[in-house]
Amino acid sequence: MFKNIMDLTDFFKDEEFCHNFLKDKFWGANRENMKCPHCGSVHITEFADYKKNRCGDCKLEFSIRKNTIFDNSKISLKKWFMVIFLANSNKRGASSCDIARKVGVTQKTAWFMLHRIKNADSLSINNKTFSGTVEIDEAYIGGKEGNRHAKDKKETGEKEKTVVLGMVNRETGQVKAMKVPTAEKEWLLPKINMTVEKGSTIITDTYQAYKALKKKYKHKSVKHSSGEYVKIDAKTAFKIHTNTVEGFWAIVKKTINGTHYWISKKHTQAYLK
Ligand SMILES: [Zn+2]
Repeated sequence: MFKNIMDLTDFFKDEEFCHNFLKDKFWGANRENMKCPHCGSVHITEFADYKKNRCGDCKLEFSIRKNTIFDNSKISLKKWFMVIFLANSNKRGASSCDIARKVGVTQKTAWFMLHRIKNADSLSINNKTFSGTVEIDEAYIGGKEGNRHAKDKKETGEKEKTVVLGMVNRETGQVKAMKVPTAEKEWLLPKINMTVEKGSTIITDTYQAYKALKKKYKHKSVKHSSGEYVKIDAKTAFKIHTNTVEGFWAIVKKTINGTHYWISKKHTQAYLK
């Protein structure tokens, strides 16, 4: 909606406007989707005080922030919207220090806000399983060498790196990325089975661990070690490659190198989100 932060701050001129904006988003401009966050009743009365709404059934009062990522926080909606904008306007991500300076909150507050925003994103995506065509690739992140491919790793230094598994649904562009203890198939396959529907097409490179995928999926692979990056199925013109998921890891790598400098194993999953 906004080209820059100035457009955004002009648009969300005050808290009342922000609350009404959320009401329109959640409840519809004609309030056709009104719902009590306590009991689910549709009988809601809005008051002149924009923060106040009351349920006709359970009689409880609540603001539109109830049960959202904006709940239980004293931070203005305008600041929340600014942080959402900043967190999404840069492919390399935004650090909490950066956001704290730009929005005028403490670094601790900025970190808390980013955490909620990132978790909200994953909630809407993580419950659905992937089907269709899914590209899968694992990577090593952390340590000095950034995200090196598991197969290229030297034995030394392996301990400081975190193994991460990435899956991209080619049709929807959705990504799931998760930390795994090692790159062995015992860890990778269960994650894939949980994420991708049986019978889907999975594309990987020729890493050993993925070989067993053919039992449950249509598994296709590209052999990077012999310089093969895109293979085209002669019959269907289907493109076999893992460029999308590798592009995702490239963004992760840039984010780590450009913004966060270093990420600890403990926080890897939060950064991936
Ligand atoms: Zn109620």
